[in-house]
Amino acid sequence: MIERFSEIIGENELDSIFKIAEKLKGLSILHVNSTPAGGGVAEILSKLVPLMRELGINTDWKIIRGDPEFFKVTKSFHNSLQNGLGELPQGSFEIYRKWQEINGNELDLDYDVVFIHDPQPAGLITFRKKGKWIWRCHIDISNPYQPVWNFLREYIQKYDSVIISSAVFARDDLKNPQFIIPPSIDPLSIKNRDIPEITVKRILYKFDLDPGRPIISQVSRFDRAKDPLGVIRTYKLVKKHADVQLAYVGSPASDDPEGEIVYRETVQAAGDDKDIKLLMLPPNSDLEINAFQRGSTVVMQKSIREGFGLTVSEALWKKKAVIGGNTGGIPLQIIHGVNGYLVNTPEEAAHYALYLIRQKDIREKFGKAGREHVRRNFLITRELRDYLMVATLALG
Ligand code: UDP
Repeated sequence: MIERFSEIIGENELDSIFKIAEKLKGLSILHVNSTPAGGGVAEILSKLVPLMRELGINTDWKIIRGDPEFFKVTKSFHNSLQNGLGELPQGSFEIYRKWQEINGNELDLDYDVVFIHDPQPAGLITFRKKGKWIWRCHIDISNPYQPVWNFLREYIQKYDSVIISSAVFARDDLKNPQFIIPPSIDPLSIKNRDIPEITVKRILYKFDLDPGRPIISQVSRFDRAKDPLGVIRTYKLVKKHADVQLAYVGSPASDDPEGEIVYRETVQAAGDDKDIKLLMLPPNSDLEINAFQRGSTVVMQKSIREGFGLTVSEALWKKKAVIGGNTGGIPLQIIHGVNGYLVNTPEEAAHYALYLIRQKDIREKFGKAGREHVRRNFLITRELRDYLMVATLALG
């Protein structure tokens, strides 16, 4: 029930959402992405779509299908756009076009407003019959590998507008209007709501973590952009000075074929240290994620590239000091020295992690500031309102 948010965001904010939604009642909105679970986009859609429905807007969420070859291609596009890498499987553009066509023919895309999330389904625009189409980009496209960007830009330019997560991702070579909408978390979800300390402890014990000793954690897919090896290095540096444990919590995503390989690399880097827990949880392990974040002394998100990094807001909301990579959307969330620290290297991360482990009062001060920063800026109700605004503007 959307009313439940009022105690967090206040009546006025909630009223403004109802007012904007009023204009969209009865209209149809479609969201399309490439995975039902695993990763931030699925996380957001699983919360946003029910809220839009509750507001009386006929909202659907569809997922494109593809074979392993297609997802290898789209992962390579992802790495090209966000990490500037130029390694593409043979025939990538052909394979991409083929699956756009398959999905374009199979899916009913006739809605008043269509939000296409990320590059994987971007080519569906070719199959538009009606409605306003908006490309919602969740990744950092500020420094792409040019041939892939040029290929996708042909599709993207056909959209009525584009949404990016941070002003630093804005592009001069797009003529479409670009809106900035940072992502958000649902404070009432199982992943983020308050849970009793006893539950946190029970889950930590279950995974062989000792709540009596400091815990550093990172919750992330096993993806090189999340720098799991940097996290291990950070832990090993801290371990020289403190009796710390590390929990790296990941889960597979059906559109990320590299997870398995990166997991194995991480296991190798961890060696036989019993205080390192590398966990591959099933998708939707929300209560467990909640407990890991809450039970941590310090939360890390040491990404090298990051569209936003929902995990940062998730941890800040739980009053945790967060150490994050100084990249992409993370600096929107971490204010250096106020609610956490922005770092570029494992050495810097280790320095701040050790400091935070030793300074409980600083952790608490940061925790309070972090929760308030998220309450004001990164809750699902704010993102919902922004989407409704963009849909309203698109419809004119
Ligand atoms: N997540 C999860 N289980 C895991 C790893 C991640 O539920 O084992 C969630 C995490 O809590 C967050 C989302 O997946 O809600 C990841 O979003 P983020 O923006 O941090 O990164 P992305 O995976 O989209 O690059």
